[in-house]
Amino acid sequence: MSTRPYWQQEITYLKGVGPHRAVALQESLNIYTWEDLLLCFPRKYMDRSRLHTVATLQEEGEAVTLTGRLGAFETQGTGPGKKRLTSTLDDGTGTALLTWFQGTQWIQRRFKPGDEVVLFGRVSFFQNQAQLVHPEIDPLRDEEHAVLNHLKIVPFYPGSDALKQAGLDSRQLRRLVHAVLEAAPGLPPEFIPAPLTAQYQLLPREQALQQVHFPQDRALLRAARRRLKFEEFFLLDLVMFSRRQLRRLQRPAPAFPHIGQLFNTFYENHLPFQLTQAQKRVIKEVRADLALPIQMNRLVQGDVGSGKTLVALMCALIALDNGYQVALMAPTEILAEQHFRSFSHLLAPLGVRCQLLTGSVKARARKPLLAELLDGSCHILIGTHALIEDSVQFARLGLTIIDEQHKFGVAQRTRLWQKNQALAPHNLAMTATPIPRTLAMTVYGDVDISVIDELPPGRKPITTTMRGDPHRLRVYGFLREELEKGRQAYVVYPLVEQSAKTDLLAVTHGWEALSQYFTDYRVGIVHGRMSPEDKEGQMRDFKERRSHILVSTTVIEVGVDVPNASVMIIENAERFGLSQLHQLRGRVGRGAEQSYCILMSGKWPATRDAQQRLKAMCEHQDGFRIAELDLELRGPGDFLGTRQSGLPEFRIADVVMDADILGEAREAARQLAIQDPDLQQPEHQALQQHLNRYIRQNGLAELRL
Ligand code: ADP
Ligand code: MG
Repeated sequence: MSTRPYWQQEITYLKGVGPHRAVALQESLNIYTWEDLLLCFPRKYMDRSRLHTVATLQEEGEAVTLTGRLGAFETQGTGPGKKRLTSTLDDGTGTALLTWFQGTQWIQRRFKPGDEVVLFGRVSFFQNQAQLVHPEIDPLRDEEHAVLNHLKIVPFYPGSDALKQAGLDSRQLRRLVHAVLEAAPGLPPEFIPAPLTAQYQLLPREQALQQVHFPQDRALLRAARRRLKFEEFFLLDLVMFSRRQLRRLQRPAPAFPHIGQLFNTFYENHLPFQLTQAQKRVIKEVRADLALPIQMNRLVQGDVGSGKTLVALMCALIALDNGYQVALMAPTEILAEQHFRSFSHLLAPLGVRCQLLTGSVKARARKPLLAELLDGSCHILIGTHALIEDSVQFARLGLTIIDEQHKFGVAQRTRLWQKNQALAPHNLAMTATPIPRTLAMTVYGDVDISVIDELPPGRKPITTTMRGDPHRLRVYGFLREELEKGRQAYVVYPLVEQSAKTDLLAVTHGWEALSQYFTDYRVGIVHGRMSPEDKEGQMRDFKERRSHILVSTTVIEVGVDVPNASVMIIENAERFGLSQLHQLRGRVGRGAEQSYCILMSGKWPATRDAQQRLKAMCEHQDGFRIAELDLELRGPGDFLGTRQSGLPEFRIADVVMDADILGEAREAARQLAIQDPDLQQPEHQALQQHLNRYIRQNGLAELRL
């Protein structure tokens, strides 16, 4: 006998689950214990709580429950798809026709004409007579049926081929869940503290688990689902909030109380343009954080082109003014190089020393660079993930800046933060992939968010259109006109790992075609398989206008800044996510001229789904709105890249649909984290235990956003 509470027993100890089924449950639904089964929630419900009568059936397609007596069986037709079993049901008000194409022998073995049965199925009408094709059928007086199915709101569980082969259809799963609930000497206990369940009017946990599987009525089902959704949000928010509290109590951070000479000189004499109000506001927010010896963890969200780099640079100056070093990490070499160039250029007059460290910096150059870092003569180190290598050690690292932070894994970001053992460096992260507010609240519970919600003046909306192969010559004609005006253009191809070979081929073919068509212009090419020097050379040529069209894979997706480029052509646009398209489009529209984005659909006319998505791109310019649409179309898992973000998947909650519950749960978690951050109070013991298990099971111990 195991000493675990009964609900943590292995699923094989449940009656009706042999080794074969146990494997199917584990592999398809991640069910290992009885509790896992209870937490496997129905995908949908069918309301069978009303009994219908044959005489009153009207609506074609309506799902109905009928009871009555079976008539004679007849087998009609021959051959697959034709051969069928028919019968009738007489319920005293009329007669309905019944037809089955499959499982006919089983039905004939189990039922005889004259039996009283319950049927459930969808109505159709055949020569004005009601008929049910393939109804579920049960004996009226079957006790198990009466408990599980009869006149209830019936749950339907997720399915898979493996489950089906193990004989675990929704009906069988229903039976297993019922067995767990029945065997209960008590269900998994409540863990949300009583004052909160009262304040938010939450159904007690036991009742919610009962009702979500076998709802008594719609109102209770709704209450049960609300409670369980609340629970999911609450746990995650609690992790986030307590982490934030902890971060504040652990290693102190260096305080940067002075706004010194570098910042002021730059602000007064070297600003390349006037800051937007939004940029000023965000710099102020960061400044306030940096003044305190509490580690800052702030995410700046700003649409592409909103000027995040300049904000980062000014924040770096605050650190420098207070005698600390800064590390800036970007996801690609091209981007790191670009930042390095603009930082070096803008900061040269101030005597600030910047260095670049990427994978392609050779050992010989690396040595003096690392020495400079250690003696503090290098002030700002800019680079790729090469920055996190152990050999990179700072004298006094005080601020880390992570550009396009969604491109980094959790572990990479964390390792950079370990580079000052004495004091925790402040963190500034930047992203142009706006997280819709509903999601950000939960995902970034331990992060403060600043939003640059204003573009620099003079930007015109980018004219976006959807085209296909039949329009290619017209598109090229248009491109030529723009080139003749002295503009430059990007042509971007998708590249995904699964089809990398063909994708690369498409890029090179595209490049050849364009080179042949635009003989009087230079066409450059950049893709991930090129050597860093070649890439760099191509980028520089484009930036300095020695080439006019740049063909590339998505390496240019993030951050690259060439204001003279005014045309963005995206090939096979339907293969990109909306947020990615928005990022790509953001490469143009950076100068004063009207810019254009042409979404080339690989198929023309595009599929309905592709049309819908590309049309959304043509209509919307606002990155936040597009992110929301993307989230609606793809769901939060794909949107965040769940695996990378390290977030658990929600079992029942939906960050988009359940925003109001999310808000309540978050508020509840906040209250609690303030009141008892370590959950030390006796009345929070159940919660603490549950939370620890939740953190373990979801691998959240390492999570740090
Ligand atoms: P992102 O937020 O996408 O990283 P960048 O920082 O690359 O955007 O800035 C986009 C462009 O806007 C750059 O060319 C930058 O020099 C310019 N820029 C930034 N701030 C301003 C401003 N306040 N006024 C005018 N142009 C600006
Ligand atoms: Mg940027």
